[in-house]
Amino acid sequence: MPDYKSLLRELPAVDRLLREAALEEKLHHLPRRLVLQAAQETIASYRRRLSDYSSLDHPPESPVRIDLSPSALAEEAALLAEQKAGSNLKSLVNATGIVIHTNLGRVPLAESAVEAITAAAKNYTNLEFSLDTGERGSRHDHLEELLCELSGAEAAAVVNNNAAAVFLVLNTLAGGREVVVSRGQLVEIGGSFRIPEIMAASGAHLVEVGTTNKTYLRDYEAVVNDNTAAFLKVHTSNYNMVGFTAEVETGALAALAARCRLPLIEDLGSGLLLDLTAHGLPFEPLIQDSIDAGADLVTFSGDKMLGGPQAGVIVGRRDLVSLIRKNQLARALRIDKFTVAALEATLRLYLDSEIALEQIPVWRMLRASPHELHRRAENLAERLSKRVEGGSIEVVEGMSRVGGGALPAAELPTFLVAFSPPETKSPDGLVSKLRRGHPPVILRLQQDRLLFDPRTIREAEEDSLINAVAAACQL
Ligand SMILES: *Cc1c(COP(=O)(O)O)cnc(C)c1O
Repeated sequence: MPDYKSLLRELPAVDRLLREAALEEKLHHLPRRLVLQAAQETIASYRRRLSDYSSLDHPPESPVRIDLSPSALAEEAALLAEQKAGSNLKSLVNATGIVIHTNLGRVPLAESAVEAITAAAKNYTNLEFSLDTGERGSRHDHLEELLCELSGAEAAAVVNNNAAAVFLVLNTLAGGREVVVSRGQLVEIGGSFRIPEIMAASGAHLVEVGTTNKTYLRDYEAVVNDNTAAFLKVHTSNYNMVGFTAEVETGALAALAARCRLPLIEDLGSGLLLDLTAHGLPFEPLIQDSIDAGADLVTFSGDKMLGGPQAGVIVGRRDLVSLIRKNQLARALRIDKFTVAALEATLRLYLDSEIALEQIPVWRMLRASPHELHRRAENLAERLSKRVEGGSIEVVEGMSRVGGGALPAAELPTFLVAFSPPETKSPDGLVSKLRRGHPPVILRLQQDRLLFDPRTIREAEEDSLINAVAAACQL
């Protein structure tokens, strides 16, 4: 019987593997360096395995069972080469039911926004060029009029994301001076965005007022001094306070700010142009309401409830916006032409709210009726049952989530396809196979059942989802 040490000497060389049909074929259509790397790494991994085993008293595999033939290693290397040549950033199926999923790129864009990005990518554009005068223009100009029309604000600027918007506003208006914030609004969003930290980084000094659960107008009033630069109101996007609570309304705070000749900045987080209550969802303040109530500057994300590309929008008073645009850091935080294109196209849809509701994926998903979700879940369950053997598939009631640190308490009743795999398959193993499948499918696992929420699965994705599940079950 051979030992592991002698097997080490039998490992084929890279050249030998490359002559095998499986790898030679890859050389025709994949970059040579990737095929070479795949061959080297495959051999190296066998070498490691054999040397590890040779030092163990009870190795997990017998040496006779390890196939070191060039053809077997070449097959493995060919798969690895394909993997290396594929994109790292993959389109995937979000079956989690979390509509705004930050780790999965937040939200898919409306078709017109996708087309706008493609056109901007293929062609030269008037990104910073005025077609009227032939002179240099501003990239903000493509968005400002639309943003003002939709929000009722005087002026607008757009930066890389809402964290950048808050940072730039504070840095411009309050560097070295004090900004007053309620203790109930010192939130952390998504791990790295924390109000005290962003404030410190911007050079503004945080002045906390009130208590965790209650803050009154008089608390703000009491701390105003010559060094106060602004009031900041922050939307507590990702947590809800219940019980005895009090925060000051935007209108009342804006009136106090005006009396003190200070700007009121409001970070709305998600940013919403359409009334959610009309669709059975909890109330959330609208951007235009904050402007209407007298906020001097309002900031919000482009890719949360707005349903557009990653961006941070600043709307409000013209004099303040123009200071912000002139800040040297604005250049470092500026958006590229793809964002301009996609945001403009998305905003245009909001000019007619019916069209926005129909064409922006985030709205379509949020508004999907229980009736429609039930129909789709039943259909998906039936189609899946025909393709997977063993286990059981049923439709159950469940909840989807808005996600993205928006509407933490919103309940979105849905119907889920629940798949209990056969005894021979581990549910965890299936989840991981689906995650690495083509396309990858991301889902929830609950009490050993794989849950698919049709709310975030587009109909056009259903065929590939079913194929991916069938493939994962066969492996
Ligand atoms: C999400 C959020 C942010 C950060 O926005 P990004 O666009 O992710 O940078 C800031 N403030 C609030 C209140 C938020 O909800």
